[in-house]
Amino acid sequence: MHESVQILVVGGGPAGSTAATLLAREGFAVTLLEREHFPRYHIGESLLPSCLPILDLMGAREKIENHGFQRKGGAYFEWGTEKWDLRFDELDDTTYSWQVVRSEFDHLLLEHAKSQGVDVREGVTVKEVLFDDDGRAVQVRWENTDRTDHGEISFDFMVDASGRAGLLATKHLRSRRFHDVFKNVGFWGYWKGTKPIEQGPDGAIAVCSIPEGWLWAIPLHDDTVSIGVVTGKEHFRAEQERQGQLADIYMEKIKSSTLTADLIEGAELVSEIKAETDYSYVTENFAGPGYLLAGDAACFLDPLLSTGVHLATYSGLLAAASVSSILRDGTEEDRALRFYASAYEMSYERLLVLVSVFYQTYRGRDEHFFEAQKLTAREKNQLNLHEAFLNIVTGIEDLADAKERAFDAVAARLAGPDALSNNPLVNHNASMEQMPDSPSRALDGLYLETEPKLTLRAVADVPAEA
Ligand SMILES: Cc1cc2nc3c(=O)[nH]c(=O)nc-3n(C[C@H](O)[C@H](O)[C@H](O)COP(=O)(O)OP(=O)(O)OC[C@H]3O[C@@H](n4cnc5c(N)ncnc54)[C@H](O)[C@@H]3O)c2cc1C
Repeated sequence: MHESVQILVVGGGPAGSTAATLLAREGFAVTLLEREHFPRYHIGESLLPSCLPILDLMGAREKIENHGFQRKGGAYFEWGTEKWDLRFDELDDTTYSWQVVRSEFDHLLLEHAKSQGVDVREGVTVKEVLFDDDGRAVQVRWENTDRTDHGEISFDFMVDASGRAGLLATKHLRSRRFHDVFKNVGFWGYWKGTKPIEQGPDGAIAVCSIPEGWLWAIPLHDDTVSIGVVTGKEHFRAEQERQGQLADIYMEKIKSSTLTADLIEGAELVSEIKAETDYSYVTENFAGPGYLLAGDAACFLDPLLSTGVHLATYSGLLAAASVSSILRDGTEEDRALRFYASAYEMSYERLLVLVSVFYQTYRGRDEHFFEAQKLTAREKNQLNLHEAFLNIVTGIEDLADAKERAFDAVAARLAGPDALSNNPLVNHNASMEQMPDSPSRALDGLYLETEPKLTLRAVADVPAEA
């Protein structure tokens, strides 16, 4: 079977649903292929407030609001010898977020995409992307997950939101690069009957360091608590040799912190232990002729600051604006895709630096783990620190020799508990504050406009003020 569509989105996680919904609301014909049947399990439960404005743009906020997810008032950190709360409502009492059961959250967003006109096909795996002689992505081959049917779909433009599977990056472009830092392993399980997490604002995620890494505890609205461990890959391997069973390593780690040891006293582990390894990477090409990569398909960052869904929905928004400016408003494709790649990469890099610096504020007994989270000279050189990135540090005027100084200045500014709670990335609408959404924050002369339509606007098109 062969058919043609206008816009094809691969993957129905938060990145794919966001991009597809926003494009459908702009009047485009959008087809979304998702290999699973939703609801499907996913890790990544703790959200940042930055999802609120994007859910508003999608018209999905009320649906998420009404579902009854655990409201998240912020975070509680026990990091080395320091303990502190990060309150989302500190500056603005309307700011909050949620802890979500991802199967339900993702399902709501995908159903919402359908309600906005997206042609969603579940149980359909994209097997291959086909390129024309000029290297433009033009078609996919798909197969039903139960292998009863297959076919081809041609498209004008494709958004690859296939998550960690990374259809384009791993299969075609082969451009995924794992970081020198954050070579970590995460493993987690779900508990019933825990004591309430008493520390921090209501519904907070609790994050606490242990000598060889850190732990999270996230209260969910289904009366379970997600408790996870992040540790270095080498340490994990040594533990596997020493202890054998993943469940034994898991139990030992969560009992090594008073906070989680107290929580699970008398509680029951109600799931298997799941694990994810090698999870921090970036792709060389965030976009190319006829396609762009959104969410985890493009890059993934260590989950210390719960940034994954933020990056997924934010890149979904940038993707939708870029594609609509190309297909509807005549923006040159190359230019719009350069904007997309710079804007998403910049946002990712800011968080990458922030996470690395945050790790550096505590060294722990296992120096090696915390040392391994420090950006190497090579990593720093690979960062494309843009002017807007440097804006988070005041007092750096000379950008020519700024990279190393910028990094040190960012480090100094962000180090420590106060700095984190003062940081707009994590608090108060997170990175939205640095969004290239005005002429003064334009990238390569383009900026994001959401009203009256979603597009990229050229600075030159804006009439000069009288
Ligand atoms: C240990 C750990 C803890 C985390 N904790 C957090 C957290 O607390 N908060 C947070 O915000 N984030 C967290 N994350 C990150 C978060 O899980 C992801 O960043 C987020 O899910 C990315 O969304 P996405 O839409 O890009 O990808 P996904 O949600 O993975 O969606 C991709 C979709 O594409 C589909 N797909 C894949 N290949 C194909 C194909 N070939 N054809 C059709 N469909 C396909 C998949 O089935 C999937 O549904 C965590 C991650 C890890 C590993």
